Amino acid sequence: MICERSEACPFFSRITKGDELEKMYRGNFCYGMFTRCARYVVLKVCGKVPNDLYPNMHDEATKLCSEYTKEQK
Ligand code: SF4
Repeated sequence: MICERSEACPFFSRITKGDELEKMYRGNFCYGMFTRCARYVVLKVCGKVPNDLYPNMHDEATKLCSEYTKEQK
């Protein structure tokens, strides 16, 4: 499974193309369990995601989703 955002995810503009960090994130999330990516989850819940949210920032993703959900009530 590949994330629908894998070609256009703004997160990777923050990382040097081809370096180990990119390979790690892409392998762990984009080309793997992308539904566990913090960025993917926030995008699906909130409709937008900060560019500086890392795929493994799950606590921050939970906070963002919680704030968004409260705003919608
Ligand atoms: S970082 Fe997350 S949202 Fe971006 S392409 Fe990879 S899995 Fe998708």
